Formats: sequence, structure tokens, C-alpha cells
Amino acid sequence: MMMGGPACESCGRPMMSGTSGKYCEGCTDARGALLTYKEVHRRLVEREFMGRNGMPREQAEVAARNALSRMPAWQGGAR
Ligand SMILES: [Zn+2]
Repeated sequence: MMMGGPACESCGRPMMSGTSGKYCEGCTDARGALLTYKEVHRRLVEREFMGRNGMPREQAEVAARNALSRMPAWQGGAR
């Protein structure tokens, strides 16, 4: 992960400079509101861990849950 730039507080991905708000467009709806945990988790599983890393779904779901548990948006909240 790149240091310095703003990172999405939901998924941790670096965001384009000039982005307003705390969350990237992958974690928000058309109005900029944060999606549900379930939806963010599903996107992370399918796009990142299965899509990019080629993990099987079961493994990807665990990896995504672990990744989200460290994010400010999901601390102590939905699980
Ligand atoms: Zn995000």
C-alpha cells in the first residue's frame, strides 16, 4: 500500500488525489454513502481476492473478512 495519499477507510485501497470523503467509489453508492458490510465484503471477495489473486471463494471470504476487520470503517461494528 502506498503511504502518504488518502486510503479508503473501508477497504484500505489508495484513492485518487482530490477524492473527497473517507471511502473510495468501490465502497460507496451513487450518492457517496458507504455500502453495507455485506456488500463491501462481497466486492472485495469477488474483485480482489478471487479476481486479482485467483483464490477459491471460501479462502477469499476469510481473507476479505480479515482485511476488513482492520479497517476504521468496520472496527467494532458489523461482522
Ligand atoms: Zn474502499
